[in-house]
Amino acid sequence: MSEKKVLLEVKNLKKYYSKSLYLNTKKHITKAVDDVSFSVYEGETFGLVGESGCGKTTIGKMIVKLIKPDSGEIVFDGLNFSDIKEKDLPSLHRNVQMVFQDPHSALDPKFTLFETINEALKTHKLCKTKIEAVAKIERLISLVGLNSSQLQKYPSEFSGGQCQRISIAKALAVNPQLIVFDEPVSALDVSIQAQIINTIVELQHKLKLTYIFISHNLAVVKYISDKIGVMYLGKIVELGTFDDIYTHHLHPYTQTLLDAILDLKHISKPQQSIDYENFLNKTRNSNGCSFCPRCKRAISRCSEEVPKLKEVAAGHFVACHLI
Ligand code: SF4
Repeated sequence: MSEKKVLLEVKNLKKYYSKSLYLNTKKHITKAVDDVSFSVYEGETFGLVGESGCGKTTIGKMIVKLIKPDSGEIVFDGLNFSDIKEKDLPSLHRNVQMVFQDPHSALDPKFTLFETINEALKTHKLCKTKIEAVAKIERLISLVGLNSSQLQKYPSEFSGGQCQRISIAKALAVNPQLIVFDEPVSALDVSIQAQIINTIVELQHKLKLTYIFISHNLAVVKYISDKIGVMYLGKIVELGTFDDIYTHHLHPYTQTLLDAILDLKHISKPQQSIDYENFLNKTRNSNGCSFCPRCKRAISRCSEEVPKLKEVAAGHFVACHLI
């Protein structure tokens, strides 16, 4: 059997932000992404999960080159991003696409469905004639579950779910190898979410695509991911296969996310009166484990030393002093 090919490799990626606090000259550093590494294999889906503000969208944006990392490496199909020349950027943008959370704001309200997809084709000079472009656009919209009678409609005439289908068709127009989906269903009605996820899964099989699927919800990622990275405040705290994360998970935070699928009350957030963002920033930059203030299993070592991500079984990594 042939070895699986690594399509994307992220190595020791870091992105820090600094800002001066009010009436204070001292800079406050937020470690949005702090030494994150993972690999994505061709034809697979890598799920990136964690609560809002954990750095998963920042990683997605670094992968599509919307944000520059402070350090670390991103290697796509053997090409290190730091070696990419200006002239090769269009080709990279074509191969690595991103679908965003809010489909309405991701589409230009002045463009019809036809114009939206045609724009992507024109930018990358993918069709020689208008007849070729029309045929390609009709095929794409049929692939995502829309039909040609809707081609002259504007985004405002579509539902949220239909707009997300248009965003997916737009991403597919340039024949990418990898698509980063950033919370693609969280802005949609629950009844629509499963339909969009089914479409995303069908497209992967039909077109042999590789995905990174970002979500705050382990229940959503469950149906689509081959491997999953659980993130907490800028770091991956557990990484493994579907089975490692859902059946044999070891990190207390993974357990918290799994509990949240059953009952949102189980998320042990700090008291409502505390400024939550402030709380996260303090714990993010603490000397010990960032999850310590919320962890029911914390020991004294947890507040003094950051746990390293260790391989506990083949391909299953956990960052916790108890493991
Ligand atoms: Fe909890 Fe300590 Fe493990 Fe962090 S290192 S998750 S605080 S037990």
